[in-house]
Amino acid sequence: MQCVADKHAEIRAEFEKERAHLLERIDELTVGGEIDLDFDDDFADRGQVASEKGEHRVLADTLEAQLKLVEKALARLDEGTYGTCSVCDKPISAERLEVLPATDRCIDHA
Ligand SMILES: [Zn+2]
Repeated sequence: MQCVADKHAEIRAEFEKERAHLLERIDELTVGGEIDLDFDDDFADRGQVASEKGEHRVLADTLEAQLKLVEKALARLDEGTYGTCSVCDKPISAERLEVLPATDRCIDHA
């Protein structure tokens, strides 16, 4: 049987991989927090540029939201509060953590 410390080390490694992956994707999409789009000079359709930018913005925002969750989960691993609900302090079920590893809410407070 696996002890909790081993399990947490495994979870941490997963989160760190996820964080690196998210940072990389955000980095590809943005420059200094702004959406970075390189279009050819002959790509003059400004409406389309704007809509592409909008799509990338939505994607970047989604990635940033995921990144925040991952960073919060890593912080909770450091604090030793990972796997407990931030509302009621009760343990979050293993099944729920399996599906949503970065969650900080039990099923009742989801
Ligand atoms: Zn709860």
